[in-house]
Amino acid sequence: MLITLIPGDGIGPDITAATLKVLEATGVKLEWEKMIAGENAIEEYGTPLPQEVIDSIRKNKIALKGPLTTPIGTGFRSINVALRKELDLFANLRPARSIKGVQSRYDKVDLVVVRENTEDLYAGIEHMVGEDAAESIKIITRKGSERVVRFAFDYAVKTNRKKVTAVHKANIMKCTDGLFLECAREVARDYPQVEFEDRLIDNMCMQLVQKPQDYDIMVMPNLYGDIVSDLCAGLVGGLGMAPGANIGEEASIFEPVHGSAPKYAGMDKVNPSAMILSASLMLEHLGEMKAAKRIIEALESVIAEGKHVTYDLGGDAQTSQMAEAIVSRMQ
Ligand code: NAD
Repeated sequence: MLITLIPGDGIGPDITAATLKVLEATGVKLEWEKMIAGENAIEEYGTPLPQEVIDSIRKNKIALKGPLTTPIGTGFRSINVALRKELDLFANLRPARSIKGVQSRYDKVDLVVVRENTEDLYAGIEHMVGEDAAESIKIITRKGSERVVRFAFDYAVKTNRKKVTAVHKANIMKCTDGLFLECAREVARDYPQVEFEDRLIDNMCMQLVQKPQDYDIMVMPNLYGDIVSDLCAGLVGGLGMAPGANIGEEASIFEPVHGSAPKYAGMDKVNPSAMILSASLMLEHLGEMKAAKRIIEALESVIAEGKHVTYDLGGDAQTSQMAEAIVSRMQ
């Protein structure tokens, strides 16, 4: 299996090296096509997103990616947004799971946010109306809604999860969120084995803060997903532990949620967990469920023990030492 590998900028190369060691320990045969994007690509290619990176992901259909620094003044609002648009990566998958040893408000949280990634208020259609007013247009389509809800249900079936909650504000936005909810209800009928319910976004936020254990997979339009996925990361210890994936019909990219933390670049210091968990999501996507689970169990056991963890988890291990500890747990 050939996979596009983008180590990324800043701390990217350190956490990528750690992740590759852990992936190797699973025994799953993976080959890498290494690509340069971000700051490092500018000198060689004159752009932070060379066409050959996009071509490689399109060809291999799957990529593992470190964080990229969005250089100022290159015309790119964000390289990540550009990649998602170019490859039509319509679903953003953000699991949030309690890990023993990571300080957080609750135990036993096991949530997945599926965020629609291409439309809603993020379509970027906005303008001034005169000098003292501004308008932004919220786009919701049947195609965009159906495919992301179907993805959420397929993910539930594949990972043996029990419930999908559609999140919306259809009581107020009757056309846009009303259409999203209608599509969710229609798609849900094709999956009688998975429980379906819906929640208003405001109520959802309160419920998540009060009793997150009651929820499983949540699917929602772009803006709500952006906010709720960070809320869920906060419930289980913050962005340092948060994996993510951007999934499309033609290609998928697996990456940590955090950025390139340039001040720690090359110091072998930061926590590799978010990228390692993203790699585990990638294995799950490839159908390697056992290997994916082995990684999570080993990572959890290293963190619970607390001896070989990085500074942010209260330890003094280097990135590479934490990776080695995870690898030795897998043997
Ligand atoms: P950041 O996530 O890079 O860093 C913020 C702080 O969080 C860091 O200073 C560090 O203290 C901590 N941190 C982040 N990752 C950590 C880890 N793995 N272990 C321990 N601590 C960690 O956010 P930022 O400073 O706002 O952004 C820096 C650059 O990253 C920007 O250029 C931004 O555009 C880019 N960025 C890229 C992505 C991506 O590629 N997906 C996502 C977010 C930000």
